[in-house]
Amino acid sequence: MQLIYEQSVSGRRGVTLPASDVPAAPALPANLQRSEPAALPELSELDLVRHFTNLSRRNFSVDTHFYPLGSCTMKYNAKVLENAAPLFSPLHPLTPLLPGGSDLCQGALGMLYDLGQMLADITGMDEVTTQPLAGAHGEMTGMLLVAAYHKAKGNKKKYVVVPDSSHGTNPASAAMAGFEIVTIPTAPYGDMDLELFRQAMNGEVAAVMMTCPNTLGLFNPHIKEIADIAHAHDALMYYDGANLNAILGKVRPGDVGFDLVHVNLHKTFGTPHGGGGPGAGPVGVKQALVPFLPMPRIVHDESSGLLQVQTDSPRTIGRTANFFGNFGVMAKAYAYLIMLGREGLVQVAEQAVLNANYLKEQLKGWYELPYEQTCMHEVVFSAAKQLAHGVHAIDIAKFLIDKGCHPPTVYFPLIVKEAIMIEPTETESKATLDSFIAVMIEAAELAASDPSAFGAMPVTMPVTRLDETKAAREQTVCCLG
Ligand SMILES: *Cc1c(COP(=O)(O)O)cnc(C)c1O
Repeated sequence: MQLIYEQSVSGRRGVTLPASDVPAAPALPANLQRSEPAALPELSELDLVRHFTNLSRRNFSVDTHFYPLGSCTMKYNAKVLENAAPLFSPLHPLTPLLPGGSDLCQGALGMLYDLGQMLADITGMDEVTTQPLAGAHGEMTGMLLVAAYHKAKGNKKKYVVVPDSSHGTNPASAAMAGFEIVTIPTAPYGDMDLELFRQAMNGEVAAVMMTCPNTLGLFNPHIKEIADIAHAHDALMYYDGANLNAILGKVRPGDVGFDLVHVNLHKTFGTPHGGGGPGAGPVGVKQALVPFLPMPRIVHDESSGLLQVQTDSPRTIGRTANFFGNFGVMAKAYAYLIMLGREGLVQVAEQAVLNANYLKEQLKGWYELPYEQTCMHEVVFSAAKQLAHGVHAIDIAKFLIDKGCHPPTVYFPLIVKEAIMIEPTETESKATLDSFIAVMIEAAELAASDPSAFGAMPVTMPVTRLDETKAAREQTVCCLG
């Protein structure tokens, strides 16, 4: 397939505009003008439609294939949610926000305010900022809040504690906020080693960052005890809410000892992701952290009954994104929450957990299961049995592509050798799960009977097996087929 630039024909146009009948606007200042025209491809509308339609057909997506990518919660997002965002698009982002003017956009402010309240309710927090633009951005915002909190108390803090099963963004965010990282190994029972954690804790620990259930899909039964130990050292408990799908309406992080949390609207709350972004990582906090929240904040003014925008406060960490974050994503999350309601959210968690446990039970005879207990929303297998025949997790992933399934996450979490991390989500039917199970069993059988067959896979894709090291080092976009 040719690149769009290769299809360009000089002078070809998609749209022809009539000659202008108004005077030309004054030219931009010279320093803002291009020295030569932008190198844009010249195409007809049909060329363009075909190009992008054909490209999209080479894509794996939730709309076309089962997508059990562990830790990513690639659920199906109902198309009706896409209608929510454009409802607000006539509103200019600079519609006057200051006192006296904010009644011009009470609807938009109300949507954001109510969304914040609902997320606070779901997570057991007191206040939410919608500003952060992704999960990792929420983590960094959270770590800046932690730093501001300790600074205001005069605490001398240096470390952030993370389990070794954590998502890589956790230590990265803490490091960006200026902390040093202490990593606690996972015990054979699949949770952070409680004894090593106890030993690692001291007065210099600023926060403990955890996701629960963790990236092995296991809910930590000691979570309250961990929070008590952390609090005894005046360390804050940070909840990475990327796995919230597993506990929606069942457990609130705020009720088991967490002080602040981010949630991924693009995983849990109705917005697509993985190339389909943008996302949002709102951060919820307990009362003690409210004074440090980013500005602007939406506050309810008792006297006027209106929502107002607070633009400054003495101890704020400042602004972390433009306006209130990715507004369209909030609108979709709001619609999702209103549509499902309290009972619907509980069903999300129950169905997600049931689906993962069904896969676990059906596949555990074929793949090694390093942690056997009941899992939450995802299950982690190892391809160790297949490796005995020379077949790696990556080979099984390529096999699945040929069979029309997106591969699960492989080689993560890092603590499981040849990890295959499967998250089916609540939106898949038993029939889809059964066909996935059949394909996984077929892969296990082929690994035992004809391991060399995997070498060439995938064979049905425009790009077959790549030299992955070379592909990472030499990122050439080439012409395919
Ligand atoms: C996805 C994920 C993150 C990061 O979220 P982004 O929105 O991708 O930045 C953090 N932690 C866990 C466990 C995740 O799965």
